[in-house]
Amino acid sequence: MILKERQVPEIILKLQAILERLPIQHEKIILLKNDLSKFQAGFNGEKSIDFYLQPLLTQDFLILHDIRIPINNQFFQIDTLILTKKYILILEIKNLAGTINFDGEFNQAVQTKNGKQKAFPDPLYQLNRQETMLRKWLDSNQLPILPIHGLVVMSNVNAVIRANHEHFSQKVIRPTSLSKKIKELEDYYIQATEVQEKQLKKITKRLLRMHTPLKQSILDSYGIAKEEIIMGVCCERCHKYALKRRHGRWKCNGCSWVSKDAHKSAMNDYCLLFGEKITSKELQAFLKIDSPSLATRLFRDLKVQREGDKKSTIYTLEYPQ
Ligand SMILES: [Zn+2]
Repeated sequence: MILKERQVPEIILKLQAILERLPIQHEKIILLKNDLSKFQAGFNGEKSIDFYLQPLLTQDFLILHDIRIPINNQFFQIDTLILTKKYILILEIKNLAGTINFDGEFNQAVQTKNGKQKAFPDPLYQLNRQETMLRKWLDSNQLPILPIHGLVVMSNVNAVIRANHEHFSQKVIRPTSLSKKIKELEDYYIQATEVQEKQLKKITKRLLRMHTPLKQSILDSYGIAKEEIIMGVCCERCHKYALKRRHGRWKCNGCSWVSKDAHKSAMNDYCLLFGEKITSKELQAFLKIDSPSLATRLFRDLKVQREGDKKSTIYTLEYPQ
């Protein structure tokens, strides 16, 4: 049973938004595009595992995708967490292509692709950290400390996996082996005592409540100034930021395309690029409108949360999903 679905990571939405709103000759475009495709590959890898998780869609397995939990001023992030009454299983999903050499001696994984080599931190080390942090978290929240297991799932079925140490073959698996591994765990814990259902619920409820998505300014991360971002409302047909508001509609100065609600996606872009807090003035500047009453109307129509009075009103946009 899935308690938390996998969502498109915010970083993907942010990169898409910034790529739409930078001049095409901008020096960071290539870097941004490369990073976007890396994040997309990672997300596609995670999604591809869902097929192998289908047998677990029963009451006995509680599944939480993509959680980020604080403990002692640090965070631990887990791709997929599976809870049962007898044990907890962490899946760390890696979507790497080419040949991957796991090197236990130097705690690294070396990817060879198109004749090039690239080293990554050992995913087992990462997994160990997640296991330790989760155990600490359960302990500090006075929740039952179930046995915790972890697996690295290599989601790219075409990747060649090699390892110089036996412990990798126990912990690093292909998605096709997932059900076999779970069967092994089920057999291993067949006689083990179960925690009560309400205890397990307490764990998942607390995890969901403490989940804290990473909020990072994309402009800060890439050293891009606010002034470099193209303002305005975009025409879906000719892709120019040339929409003007007239008689309750947006009309394109370039191609005459008309839209009723093109401001919605512009406001989503604003939220992704500059954050959720916005004033009427900021909205007017971003949409290139010069009517405060129109700004107020757009906020009201979209039921945007507000606090403060008159000129000091601050609105809170909702993050797009
Ligand atoms: Zn147009």
